[in-house]
Amino acid sequence: MTSSEIREKFLSFFKGKNHTIVPSAPMVIKDDPTLMFTNAGMNQFKEYFLGNSISKHPRIADTQKCLRVSGKHNDLEEVGKDTYHHTMFEMLGNWSFGDYFKKEAIAWAWELLTEVYKIDKESLYVSVFEGSEDDNLTLDQEAYDLWKAIVPENRIILGSKKDNFWEMGDQGPCGPCSEIHVDIRPASEKAKVAGASLVNQDHPEVIEIWNLVFIQYNRKADGSLEPLPEKHVDTGMGFERLSMVLQGVNSSYDSDIFRPILKEVESITGEAYGSDPEKDIAMRVVADHIRAVAFSIADGQLPSNNGAGYVIRRILRRAVRYGFTFLGTHEPFLFKLVKVLVTQMGTAFPELKRQSALIENVVREEEHSFLKTLEQGLVLLDEVISGTKGKVVDGQKAFELYDTFGFPIDLTSLILGEKGYTLDTEGFEKAMQEQKSRSRSASEVAKDDWQVVHTNGEQEFLGYDQLEAEVRLVKYRKITTKKDKTQFQLVFDKTPFYPEGGGQVGDMGYLEVPNGDVVYILDTKKENNEIVHYAKNLPKHLNESLTAVVNKVARANTERNHSATHLLHQALRNVLGSHVEQKGSAVHPGHLRFDFSHFAKLTNEELTRVEDFVNERIHEHLPLQENRQVSMKEAMKEGAIALFGEKYGDQVRTIRFGNSIELCGGTHVKNTAEIWHFKIVSEGAIAAGVRRIEAITSDAVLNHYEEKEGQLDEIKARLKSSGDPVKAIEGLIEENAQLKKEIEALQKDKAKGLKAEIKKELEQREDYKFLSREVDLDAGAMKDLSFEMGQEVDNLFLLLGSEKDGKALLSCYISKDLANAKGWNAGQIVRELGKFIQGGGGGQPFFATAGGKNPEGIKEALEKVRSLLT
Ligand code: ATP
Ligand code: MG
Repeated sequence: MTSSEIREKFLSFFKGKNHTIVPSAPMVIKDDPTLMFTNAGMNQFKEYFLGNSISKHPRIADTQKCLRVSGKHNDLEEVGKDTYHHTMFEMLGNWSFGDYFKKEAIAWAWELLTEVYKIDKESLYVSVFEGSEDDNLTLDQEAYDLWKAIVPENRIILGSKKDNFWEMGDQGPCGPCSEIHVDIRPASEKAKVAGASLVNQDHPEVIEIWNLVFIQYNRKADGSLEPLPEKHVDTGMGFERLSMVLQGVNSSYDSDIFRPILKEVESITGEAYGSDPEKDIAMRVVADHIRAVAFSIADGQLPSNNGAGYVIRRILRRAVRYGFTFLGTHEPFLFKLVKVLVTQMGTAFPELKRQSALIENVVREEEHSFLKTLEQGLVLLDEVISGTKGKVVDGQKAFELYDTFGFPIDLTSLILGEKGYTLDTEGFEKAMQEQKSRSRSASEVAKDDWQVVHTNGEQEFLGYDQLEAEVRLVKYRKITTKKDKTQFQLVFDKTPFYPEGGGQVGDMGYLEVPNGDVVYILDTKKENNEIVHYAKNLPKHLNESLTAVVNKVARANTERNHSATHLLHQALRNVLGSHVEQKGSAVHPGHLRFDFSHFAKLTNEELTRVEDFVNERIHEHLPLQENRQVSMKEAMKEGAIALFGEKYGDQVRTIRFGNSIELCGGTHVKNTAEIWHFKIVSEGAIAAGVRRIEAITSDAVLNHYEEKEGQLDEIKARLKSSGDPVKAIEGLIEENAQLKKEIEALQKDKAKGLKAEIKKELEQREDYKFLSREVDLDAGAMKDLSFEMGQEVDNLFLLLGSEKDGKALLSCYISKDLANAKGWNAGQIVRELGKFIQGGGGGQPFFATAGGKNPEGIKEALEKVRSLLT
């Protein structure tokens, strides 16, 4: 069975059990402050588990792109080393939201595995939660009894909280689970050791394939559990692991999902997979990581220096480093794998195909710059080694290399080993821990439990039509922010406040309380599909009706910038071509930022055309045509632009101005005339093939021009000319050049005169000529003069002192023969004399300079030199 057939069979099986099939949510999560990447199929349904909203479909099935490289689920370090953990993988899942529970979930899982996929029943084991004292929970008897009816008891294993109690995060929905494990060892092995004893023992051929989670509790902030009113089913089966089992191979890398990629790795590196265990690990790392990186970029997350982007960068670098160390790849090569990946997965995931050129470019560029870092790191490491006394290299130093230059620690260890050194791992770990606790305390936010004031149905958003509304508090909780400040999160039954999303910032404003008090709302965000308001304090009377008022000025400016962003997007596609894809946007009251894929810097002419295009649309006074409820199909037919990496339902909202039509949940002007004017203030690259435009509209444009005009007036005033300032400046430039020339000529004359003077002053000592004297020259001129004198006078000792801009300078010249004969050293001499001018210096034995902050000391230095020459 091919992997495509396996995926298809899963979905059609559950369709047959009345499940609605939905597409995978993006792997990169944009609007959830608690999670960077989708790490399980259930993430996109969190709001249903929490009871914030009700799913239209009580039964759902899908395949979900997952990434487990950060937070609670992090498999990164296993990947490559074993044969069944991946960074990015597909999770096949079926869900029940308050519908069926353990009985059906267990029966269907068994039916699918044994009757549809025809896995040998004898090779399957199941596990049941045994209970846990911490949580006061006992054996999951219900699940145990259900399994007992299907499988013999010796194939039911009891599991601890670690393996059989599933939690999404530190807080939130959770519950006991039943896992299904499969033993794929050859019969001869099975006869020797019973499979049951190998379950959950990290055996590569006795592995978990499916987890059936029975969500029935909510974990509260204080760690206690409370039962959920509705019970849910959440299952997840590893698609790659299932394919391995059904294709009769013992590593998911040998399934048809990974084979073509590994083949390409073989042909690029000239290494054969399976010939050397160390190289095999590296090849698996490479084959795995390119998928994670490519899918992230397709979802709109580029590698970067922080947050989710940094996680992606680290995955990519791990692959480069394994290639560099074990496969001898010292040139970019990962980008070459993108083509195979696209051929193989581009049909199931079209976002990959559409953006393959961008993915290749970004990956190649990243590889290139990291390889450079590696080279520099090797040089720095050599320096660290040569500065090491003994054979143990300081862990703190290795950590600095790792932390500041991104030089990988395992490479450091490897190189040290080759050179006969060892690493002080304890010191390294200590430095690492210190840094971790520093960054943890800087980023963590503590949250109390929600306090419910009113119970309420689904929350209503009024902000498309209203900026003010009477609302009631539904629940609130206290949070402690990064900077140890207390704030309150408030949820209302309805709200006019727009929550941050789709690039547009969250609304600010205030609440008016009946007694006349005001509570400020600092920001608004969406969490698990609920609009959460961040308030400075809590309203005194929680039960009363409140007036929620949005800051109208900020909102209006934000709307101008949001609508202008749509017009800019349209303009770029018009002027540059339809390859332009939105890669990010930020819409603030004061400015807008738009990132997009394009491979070259925009010329001035293109920038002007883009600006003109937008301004023409503004002058056409195009009315807003908003459609709040339209089917995705209909919207696409009309030509609406959807973004990769965004989550859309089957009903979407479209925003149209003339021919610009986009899927968008943001707020907009009623007519483009309100934007008044659009002006680009900067354009540049933010990554390979991705450019950023920053622009302003309306009042900001006025301020911009007023500021420019102010500057021009200032320039005119300084020029003291009422005529054309450009002409006046050209005149100044010319005059300046002329004056420079004259000064140079004068300085040359002066130097000539000075040289003649100095020659006359030279003291003839027994076998050399001596002079120490003050001059009015800068450092460069002092050096020139010294060398010229040296050319003309043999056996010369010349010490010059000068004061420039309040600082003291000394220069010492000694003819080479003289320095050798007498054993004098100009460097030592200036260092000695540096004391008098409160400074230091150095140089070569025949010429050296010193600088200091005490010009008063010059005279003394010029005098003291005599006593040094003995
Ligand atoms: P394991 O103990 O093997 O790491 P898990 O308990 O972390 O698995 P779950 O969180 O229950 O796994 O995820 C459900 C299913 O997803 C698993 O049964 C497995 O088939 C699959 N899965 C989990 N992690 C990975 C991974 N890193 N790579 C591939 N498949 C995975
Ligand atoms: Mg795991």
